[in-house]
Amino acid sequence: MDELKIWRCGKGHALGVVRRNGRGVEQLLLYRHAIAGGSSEQVDVMAVVEGSVMDIRCDICGEMRTWAIGQAAFERLMSHYGKSSSTDNTEKNKTRTTTKLNEKH
Ligand SMILES: [Zn+2]
Repeated sequence: MDELKIWRCGKGHALGVVRRNGRGVEQLLLYRHAIAGGSSEQVDVMAVVEGSVMDIRCDICGEMRTWAIGQAAFERLMSHYGKSSSTDNTEKNKTRTTTKLNEKH
């Protein structure tokens, strides 16, 4: 039930763990330090990132990885900000061309 995915940098160091909370929103449990090995026996979770975009740097190799908002959280946000703003731009362009003809008698 508790599905955990390890979130790694491009070189395979574990930066944190992705899980879903009770509402199905993806959260990133960010480790205090990146872990090079496969086993994560005792890790310090520094922060819980949910529903945002964050640049996270691996402190082993220095590679940056961007945590982006999960799809489910994104849809929740979109329904939360469900206001549809309609802009009325009515441009009236009327060009009148008056041609005067001078008739000579
Ligand atoms: Zn790394």
